[in-house]
Amino acid sequence: MYIETSTGKWEVVIGLEIHAQIISNSKLFSSASAAFGGNPNEHVCYVDAALPGTLPVLNSYCVDQAIKTGLGLNATINKISFFDRKNYFYADLPPGYQITQFSHPIISGGYIDLEKDDGSVHRINLHHIHIEQDAGKSIHDQNPTKTYIDLNRAGVGLMEIVTEPDMRSAEEAATFLQKLRSILRYLKTCDGNMDEGSMRADVNVSVHRPDTPYGTRAEVKNVNSVKFLATAINYEIDRQISILESGGEVEQETRLFDSGKGITRTMRSKEDAQDYRYFPEPDLPPLILEQSRVDAIAETIPELPDMKSHRLQETYDLPKYDANLISSEIEIASFYEKALLATKSEDKDVAKLLSNWMLGDLFSLLNKNNTYILDSKISSEALAELVMLIKNEVISGKIAKEVIELMWSEQKTASAIVEEKGLKQITCSDSIKASLREVLSEHSEKVAEYKSGKDKLFGFFVGQAMKKTQGKANPKILNDILKEMLTE
Ligand code: ADP
Ligand code: MG
Repeated sequence: MYIETSTGKWEVVIGLEIHAQIISNSKLFSSASAAFGGNPNEHVCYVDAALPGTLPVLNSYCVDQAIKTGLGLNATINKISFFDRKNYFYADLPPGYQITQFSHPIISGGYIDLEKDDGSVHRINLHHIHIEQDAGKSIHDQNPTKTYIDLNRAGVGLMEIVTEPDMRSAEEAATFLQKLRSILRYLKTCDGNMDEGSMRADVNVSVHRPDTPYGTRAEVKNVNSVKFLATAINYEIDRQISILESGGEVEQETRLFDSGKGITRTMRSKEDAQDYRYFPEPDLPPLILEQSRVDAIAETIPELPDMKSHRLQETYDLPKYDANLISSEIEIASFYEKALLATKSEDKDVAKLLSNWMLGDLFSLLNKNNTYILDSKISSEALAELVMLIKNEVISGKIAKEVIELMWSEQKTASAIVEEKGLKQITCSDSIKASLREVLSEHSEKVAEYKSGKDKLFGFFVGQAMKKTQGKANPKILNDILKEMLTE
């Protein structure tokens, strides 16, 4: 995929470094709580505050979580890895160094497959995943002359997921990030809350002419939403192309994204790049993993989005679009599968009907009320009941649209609403015939027109009969009887 300007074609190259906070009760090297929030400095122990004489102790649950993530991303789990010190001075980093993995990370390789519209697959390879500790927070905006330090986040376990430079557009990078987030949430190894900072991306962007070596990249730090990622990349593409087209050179530098303005700007250039003086962490032994430990964790990997989508397509003949959307988020998938179970039906039509009502009407109610599926006022069981009323022709699809609104606003079941408001579909041919007879005699001149060839009037008669039955007549029966009556 190339970008075409007046001077010719450009190719874009993108690689991501994603920081994903590990779901765990305690921090990577201390027993303090890893929970988000809390009063300032409430989740801090001596290790996090780097008091002299304290030593880090590796949280083995965090290691398990990293292994699980690696297995879920088709990667190699390294039986031996090391921790290193990355030295830099900053007030929210009490020891003056971060413990990370530099030369030998716990996980190598791996990939995520992105499916394109034409069905082909584009594989985004991962370079490696390493584990490291997060820093604290400096708060600059609460006092005009002071900076406050909150160490609640200091020492929380992170996975840094580094991709190969395999993405070629902002949309592709955004799709990748979304899919990675979805997989981590299925695995329950990172909650993916980008607005709380538990997932953030550094994005490397370069441009070059096709069939020439990659261009010099700029790295944009700490992008914290999928939308911002696309904005930052597109801004960088424009910026770099215009530099190169006017004869300049792109500088290898670190840039910051200004989400308010939608632009990036220089943070530090390569010339003043920091020397982190990496060296092996002397307070921690090498991390050695037994195959049995990896095998046991492999047993706990759940069905992931791609697998789920394929299964839904194969078992229920669901269209790819539906199956992908349902599988895209773990909560949506569980809602759907719980509802499907509650229908007690194995009919493929029911699976599709349920998908239509969930992705269509329920989602539009969720949107309208600005809520997410977890806070749906209609439970999966309640939606299943509605779908079965439609399937069994107790109510028509048209009436069901009214019913689902009332289910949301009045918090009642579909059958209770149908009973209360007398919305049951009329399937009795005699009573439908009676309504039709009335319609035809009230519009005898139109009947004559119809018979002389004005076919379009059929719909008019249907409409009138529906009006008389308050929309409750079974449309198929009504159509059949009307056809019969008009040819009499
Ligand atoms: P560093 O460790 O100095 O940040 P790496 O070579 O490990 O550099 O690359 C970091 C990230 O930059 C990776 O995600 C990689 O895919 C990406 N990257 C490397 N070269 C390029 C390039 N020319 N254009 C865009 N991204 C790149
Ligand atoms: Mg980097």
